[in-house]
Amino acid sequence: MSELERLAEEVAQCTKCLLHRGRTHAVPGEGPDDATIMFVGEAPGFHEDQQGRPFVGAAGQFLEELLASIGLTRDDVYITNVIKCRPPGNRDPLPDEIRACAPFLDRQIEMIGPTVLVTLGRFSMARAFPSGRISHIHGEARKIGGVVYYPMYHPAAALHRPSLRGTVEEDMRRIPMVIERAAQMAESQPPPQAEQLELF
Ligand code: URA
Repeated sequence: MSELERLAEEVAQCTKCLLHRGRTHAVPGEGPDDATIMFVGEAPGFHEDQQGRPFVGAAGQFLEELLASIGLTRDDVYITNVIKCRPPGNRDPLPDEIRACAPFLDRQIEMIGPTVLVTLGRFSMARAFPSGRISHIHGEARKIGGVVYYPMYHPAAALHRPSLRGTVEEDMRRIPMVIERAAQMAESQPPPQAEQLELF
């Protein structure tokens, strides 16, 4: 059993917050354990809770279309969420729930070691950019604590607000360039104070 599979078992048995009481399935995440790109959404919704898999509803369908636009399928990337169990009625995750679940995501990031971590939506973005505003920082890559973060709007936001669709599509199209630049930077000596500086 791989480390990620062991972690998935822990997630499935987790009782650290009250969300475990209402879950059908926990949704640890899925994808290659050496994925170059990791997508981190917000929380499982109805379909994810039913199936135990992330992004399998309407937002997931759109995410798959976005991935196809850069020549990828969902099997090429690791997909997970900030919290691993569905909040009732798909409400926003609570601070306590995010805190209780954070060690799982920290460990997933550590195990996978992605070149780029794409945050989908504001709860995911807030981990790396607590005071960031998504309308200001989407589509800008920054390196923090050794990880290149790339914030994007949540695909569901673009489904609800069609005016965001073009922005989300454009941000996705820039990901191959972000990966290339991040890989180049990893090979070269980091400049002093590179951390937290804008990369591109
Ligand atoms: N929205 C999310 O943030 N995550 C999912 O897994 C599905 C929808």
